Amino acid sequence: MEERDFFEEKAEQKIHTMICPHCGQPGEYELSWLVRRKRAQIPRGADDYDKARFAKARSYMVRRDDLVGCKNIRCRKRFEVVGIQSVSDLQETPVGSAENRAERIRAAFSRRTLG
Ligand SMILES: [Zn+2]
Repeated sequence: MEERDFFEEKAEQKIHTMICPHCGQPGEYELSWLVRRKRAQIPRGADDYDKARFAKARSYMVRRDDLVGCKNIRCRKRFEVVGIQSVSDLQETPVGSAENRAERIRAAFSRRTLG
């Protein structure tokens, strides 16, 4: 079983605030990430070795952009993405985790009725 069998892979855009090192102007930049979300269930046909690996696997994302172009029209220089990790942990619930979803809905609903 391959590592990628444990994840659902998706390209996502995320907004980051960065400061251009040439002109010093902060701006919001959209970076593209490859997001690998751990599946809620281990794929069928997994053996004990796969199960151990799956238990240790965590959702993460990999940054695909290394350079951005400054948004200041008087600068427009390209600069390297710094201060943002190229690989980052994802603090999210696994894909298709019905239990968690139901729990969240219940929590939101009870908050509304009480509040
Ligand atoms: Zn600039």
